Amino acid sequence: MDGVLADFDGEFTRITGRKWDHNEWSGLRSPKEEKWEIISKHPYFFRDLPWMRGARSMVHFVAKTTDHTSYVPGIMSAASNHIKASADQKRIWLNREVPILDDSKHVHIVAHREEKAAFARPGVILVDDHKLNIEDWIAAGGIGILFESAVQVIDELQTHLNAPEQQYLTARFEAAI
Ligand SMILES: [Mg+2]
Repeated sequence: MDGVLADFDGEFTRITGRKWDHNEWSGLRSPKEEKWEIISKHPYFFRDLPWMRGARSMVHFVAKTTDHTSYVPGIMSAASNHIKASADQKRIWLNREVPILDDSKHVHIVAHREEKAAFARPGVILVDDHKLNIEDWIAAGGIGILFESAVQVIDELQTHLNAPEQQYLTARFEAAI
């Protein structure tokens, strides 16, 4: 969800004036704790995230393209291990912003990033901004699209959706990175 539909990085920069730099934070225990501490002071951080640029168009494209077909759009997201309320707030965000999805059937909020690949199947497409998630998904037999921009994802989806064997389409998000 974050980095594909919801603009986690942009909101972090907006409230702190600092970039959420994965290289800077990765593996460094205390800076990582610091950044989550900052977010924890904003109790509705995940509920109130803004959209990524172009992401509404991407969702409309998916909805229109898959309508009257066997393709089923879905959402997958990893809750933050640091923010207990993140899972509930992600569902609130999705219900409010993407009400076309059936929450119970096609929204999967997993506890850890590593659990996502268990949903991979031949023909199932994952859109994610985290390279490791895409690599794990492909290794588990799915089709992965590494998010760079909404326009790029729409272009790649257009190609894949013409393939007759695909039956399930998942847009997936990641918070615990
Ligand atoms: Mg993500």
